[in-house]
Amino acid sequence: MTTEPLTIGRRIRHFRAEAGLTLDALGDAAGAAPSQLSQIENGRREPRLSLLQRIADALGVPLTDLLTEDAPTPRDALEIELERAQRRPLYAALGLPSVKVSQKLPMPVLESLVGLHGELARRESESIATPEQARRANTAVRLGMQARDNHLAEIEEVAEEMVRRAGYEGGALTHRMVTVMAEQLGFELVHVGDLPPTTRTVTDLEHRRIYLPSSSIPGGHGLRSLALQAIAHRVLGHERPATYEAFLGQRNEINYFAAACLMPRFVAGPWLEARKHDRDLAIEDFRDAFGVTHEAAARRFTNLATVVLGIRCHFLRVQEDGSLYRGYENDGFLLRADVTGAIEGQPVCRWFGARSAFTSHDRTTEWYQYTDTPAGTYWCSTQAGATASGDFTVTIGVPFAQSKWFRGRDTTTRRTSTCPDDACCRRPAAADTARWGEAAWPSARMRQHVFGPLPTGAFPGVDQTDVYEFLTRHAPEDAAQG
Ligand SMILES: [Zn+2]
Repeated sequence: MTTEPLTIGRRIRHFRAEAGLTLDALGDAAGAAPSQLSQIENGRREPRLSLLQRIADALGVPLTDLLTEDAPTPRDALEIELERAQRRPLYAALGLPSVKVSQKLPMPVLESLVGLHGELARRESESIATPEQARRANTAVRLGMQARDNHLAEIEEVAEEMVRRAGYEGGALTHRMVTVMAEQLGFELVHVGDLPPTTRTVTDLEHRRIYLPSSSIPGGHGLRSLALQAIAHRVLGHERPATYEAFLGQRNEINYFAAACLMPRFVAGPWLEARKHDRDLAIEDFRDAFGVTHEAAARRFTNLATVVLGIRCHFLRVQEDGSLYRGYENDGFLLRADVTGAIEGQPVCRWFGARSAFTSHDRTTEWYQYTDTPAGTYWCSTQAGATASGDFTVTIGVPFAQSKWFRGRDTTTRRTSTCPDDACCRRPAAADTARWGEAAWPSARMRQHVFGPLPTGAFPGVDQTDVYEFLTRHAPEDAAQG
């Protein structure tokens, strides 16, 4: 029998009440003890089919009337739902008492409790990605990229085909070409001033429109990059991500696609090879040749360095407070990691070029430095920049043996780092501790959280109500209807 004992019990009770029979009377007629019947009615006991048949006969209803899955009345449906909800492990885990479900329970109380249980279950299934889960997922994506030398050949190919079809031959990819790329996919780029605050772009799949902000986000993503990322979801056939890691994986892919369009391998690869041949590699030149930000150029360099140039390297973006905002390495460069393996938010050695560059007076050119570390000697090139939320540096570094290909290799700046040993730079000098240990009381500035908690709904971190309202506001009239 597939019908739940609780539902069967409620149906028996319903028909017994309709027939005006007491438990004793039904027990006599069906040949069962009243206590047994009571347990059956409460769903605590599963009746044998033979007994069910006798009960049906005694009540004057067909057996099938007792076995249908519908609750006999709306009130019974609520009572059954409350009984069920109170028996779930989710509720048991709260350690709260169960409410006795009886006919004395007022209807509004019943409705309220069933509503709360439903919401509890909904929130559980739409659970929150904790910062720790987010960090683990991010680490998994980063290590996956490290294992592939930060190169995704299949996305390189898609990007190359698309930019070629839009007429790109070299240099900076123009905004016009990006528009053509969207058009070739059947999409129109629409610039608006009222995008929902939780989004960077919104795509209307029905009307084939990609909504973009009307100006680029300061210190971050240029408009071309935003448009290319929105296009990437379509080109790469992304489905709604089922997990937070899948969501981050898609983010990684759309960023990759945008970079691969702005600095296509078939142009950027030979460009970098020529500079390597001349022993004059410089991220600042790469940046200027393709009209992108310094960070975009540096990150793109890591996509091509190993696969195209045969150079292993590391990339760091470091905040003014000395913490790592984003990093990558496949050259053995040592970075601090937390217990989840995440490197983001960890302090960076104060002797690294990534931090020395903050003190550089001339920020128009790159800061060059050799650093002796427990993992060997590295050379690096760092550029300092500023955003509304503070200064930052972008660093590309390579093992000593590879420095010969780069401009700035002749620097005489050389530092020693023994990090992650705390004695390197994490402990104040003994004399300073003696002087200030008892007299200093700094008040901490709240750190910018790299991975705050995000709801793992269909679109993590996005306010869907805002998005639907936005789309309704901008959707063209459906003139073709009727
Ligand atoms: Zn250090």
